[in-house]
Amino acid sequence: MVRRILLGSLVVCVALAAGLWFTRPTPCGRPIAYRLGTVDGRFGLTNAEVLEALREAESLWGRAVGRDVFTHDPRATLTVTLVYDERQQTTQTSQRLWSSMQQAQASHAVVSRSYAEWRETYERRARSYETTYAAYQERAAAYNAQMQQWSARGGVPREMQAGLEAERNRLQALRSELETERIAIESLAGTVRSLAEKGNALAEAHNRDVMTFNSRYGAPRQFHKGEFDGREITVFEFHDMRDFALLLAHELGHALGLGHVDDPTAVMHAVGGEQAVEPLRLTAADLAALQKLCGRR
Ligand SMILES: [Zn+2]
Repeated sequence: MVRRILLGSLVVCVALAAGLWFTRPTPCGRPIAYRLGTVDGRFGLTNAEVLEALREAESLWGRAVGRDVFTHDPRATLTVTLVYDERQQTTQTSQRLWSSMQQAQASHAVVSRSYAEWRETYERRARSYETTYAAYQERAAAYNAQMQQWSARGGVPREMQAGLEAERNRLQALRSELETERIAIESLAGTVRSLAEKGNALAEAHNRDVMTFNSRYGAPRQFHKGEFDGREITVFEFHDMRDFALLLAHELGHALGLGHVDDPTAVMHAVGGEQAVEPLRLTAADLAALQKLCGRR
């Protein structure tokens, strides 16, 4: 019932003027200082969390070079800011819908299990009722036939009266038990029906959400998640902290003086999506670009 959906979003980064930044005489010579600019609260991150992600991103380059290539300094020129606009808003809205779809799917699974259990109980008791009822009818027919025979012969003989009276009482008790069970089974049927309706309603609502999700967010989005303009790194969108750290590592790479590389799994590739993020990892293409820029240590 539930189709698998990918949160597909092809993402592109721009380095507007990466060239401007590395007019320094010795690229990679001195650690580049950066500071935190405005962090829009709608991203839901504290400054400390952003700085932590920045430290992780800078250490990726630092480890490759063998020493610190960035340093946090509140007086630095290079500023990292988080600007909230429709890009992040769309990401957050789609994530909320996705999460509500996951919950609906979980609720549907619970109702489905409950429905299967109650239905099994209902069917078992209904079958047992049918068997007992058939046996009762047979026994009642035998009793009636016997009574008719005696009636045709002028009445039940005295010595038979107690036995037939006892059978009549047993039949009455059995009928009453059967009636109680019939009512219980009817109530079970009601429970099964209402669980089926609930399950169907949940499935329909979920399918509607899936359709909404696919129509709104199914197509790949292309937009700039971040940019570096020579003085400032601006972040516009990320879907989780791993994606955020990757984006920061990418923009710090531009700040270092690196351009884009072709390898789609490289941190410095223009499009995000295929990079390793847990943990972040520089590929051979990233390292080659770094070596070309910084030279051998
Ligand atoms: Zn870029």
